[in-house]
Amino acid sequence: MTKIYRSLLMVSLLLCNSGLVQAAVVNDIRMWHAPERSRFVFDMDRGVIFNVFTLKNPGRVVIDLPNTKLKGTVPAPGVSGQFIKQLRVGYPKPDTMRLVFDLDKPVRYFIQLLTPVENFKYRLVVDYYHQDAVVEADQPSRPITRSIPKSISGQPRKPKSKLLVLIDPGHGGEDIGARGRKAKEKNIVLEISKKLKAQIDKQPALRAELTRKGDYYVGLRKRTRIARDLEADFFISIHADAFKNKNVRGSSVYALSRRGASSETARWLANKENSSDLAGGVSLADKDDQVAETLVDLSMTKTVNESISFGQEVLSELKNVGRVHSRRVEQAGFVVLKSPDIPSILIETAYITNPTEEKLLQNSKHQYRIVNAVVSGIKRYLIKNENFFN
Ligand SMILES: [Zn+2]
Repeated sequence: MTKIYRSLLMVSLLLCNSGLVQAAVVNDIRMWHAPERSRFVFDMDRGVIFNVFTLKNPGRVVIDLPNTKLKGTVPAPGVSGQFIKQLRVGYPKPDTMRLVFDLDKPVRYFIQLLTPVENFKYRLVVDYYHQDAVVEADQPSRPITRSIPKSISGQPRKPKSKLLVLIDPGHGGEDIGARGRKAKEKNIVLEISKKLKAQIDKQPALRAELTRKGDYYVGLRKRTRIARDLEADFFISIHADAFKNKNVRGSSVYALSRRGASSETARWLANKENSSDLAGGVSLADKDDQVAETLVDLSMTKTVNESISFGQEVLSELKNVGRVHSRRVEQAGFVVLKSPDIPSILIETAYITNPTEEKLLQNSKHQYRIVNAVVSGIKRYLIKNENFFN
């Protein structure tokens, strides 16, 4: 975990409006140094999904641009302004272009991908400021990135730079969910979710919030909205299954289905005029239908794939706790899993209709076993995707 802890959050952002296979090209690198700011502009022929992370000792900001090539020249050392010792370009993988900014001092940085305007095509704009500066986007009305002013200094990480897991206890209030002989799903999943939050909050690189904290109902769309508003990095909905046949038992993990993803794409497109941001914070209002569809679809597909591999790690930990209903992550059209840019899974912890599992679900020790399995699953996912972060 320490490596992940060291690195700041990645921003995975998706913008690709044409030619999905051909490599993107950085045609030019330009710099503008002002007293309070150094700006680096990368002129690109199209937008790409990029990952940002930082390294310490010495301090670096690293941006990976997959499927991208450089045509322009890299600025020589010594001309990169007051914040940056040197900008380096490398290829950690043959098709991934890596920008490494060697920092001269603690900074704040802000990265935006600007859409074409007038004579410019896409521009990846990286601004560096003094550590205590207040920074703003150039196009505040049309946000492109999921916003990233971050401080990098030798100081310990602030809590707010932790990855946020949003835990969603299913049902609540009038909506009881499934029923066992005595137990009600809405109560059991709330107990488990609260324990899960407590365990996640103990992890150095993670923190958790709940979509509901008591016995009341929260609309399904509201739950995904909370995830967006809090800028959650993961979404985990907790449930307990029911089936007519009382013998059926075991836990399951779900990700969004392909069909659920495409219907969600359609929904986002229908709303594009009034949705100021979306999938990776991309504004759709100014895009034509086909471009908008491609954008949303790419984001959904990427997120569903991430959700499946995330779910797989959680599922393999749950196998150690008890029976699993299916060895693979299942896929269904659950509304709460429809965030276009947040890996989301739904865990059916067990069958409340199975008398043995009903008893287990009510048992605090067993609840902790489930919780610990989920936490280990999150960690496994993060470690496996280390290159994603670091
Ligand atoms: Zn449920």
